[in-house]
Amino acid sequence: MDERRTINLCFHGIGTPARDLEIGEAHYWVRTTVFHAILDAVADDPRVRISFDDGNASDAEIALPALRERGLTATFFVLSGRLDEPGSLSREQVLELRDTGMAIGTHGHAHRPWRGLDPAATHAELEDAREELAELVEQPVDEAALPLGRYDRALLATLRRLGYGTVHTSDRRWARGDAWLQPRFSVRDHDTVARLQREVLRPPTLPTRTRGELVGLVKRFR
Ligand SMILES: [Zn+2]
Repeated sequence: MDERRTINLCFHGIGTPARDLEIGEAHYWVRTTVFHAILDAVADDPRVRISFDDGNASDAEIALPALRERGLTATFFVLSGRLDEPGSLSREQVLELRDTGMAIGTHGHAHRPWRGLDPAATHAELEDAREELAELVEQPVDEAALPLGRYDRALLATLRRLGYGTVHTSDRRWARGDAWLQPRFSVRDHDTVARLQREVLRPPTLPTRTRGELVGLVKRFR
């Protein structure tokens, strides 16, 4: 049996952004109608796990009610440095996510790549941000999502040393459900249900899967 059968779908913003976006970020904002259609398409698919990066206000305002209507749960990777900022989740909304059965993970503080940070910045992003979130939700935060999907072997070793239980990438391949490193497929503005079904939800052909695994290997060992 193929163990690589977990499909992690990652969303960023839904609907219309209420803050200035970073360069290229608009490609990761999905229309609300498309978001709802994708949820409907995967709601009964036990292989699919859903997460949200960046802590946009749309997590609470659009995603949460849509998930609850369908009986779904998700993990929200929040940026501590954007809490209560316009267009981002408020602290109160993070607690609402927690109280409705959603999991809270960390995406760091300032949305900068974690790869190659100096020790002070590493501490701020990997330890202080996590601690601030854990204090807010009054429970341990042991899942992380890598900002901009960037990583290397040194970063993964640091994350392991800090005791992270699961680390989520953006490597666009299927995952083993119990693995420490969880590749995810980021949903983009051009995606549709049909496209996701064709490119993501159908079992990957062998060459595609091998190429995806090589990407992960290169990142882990560089
Ligand atoms: Zn991000």
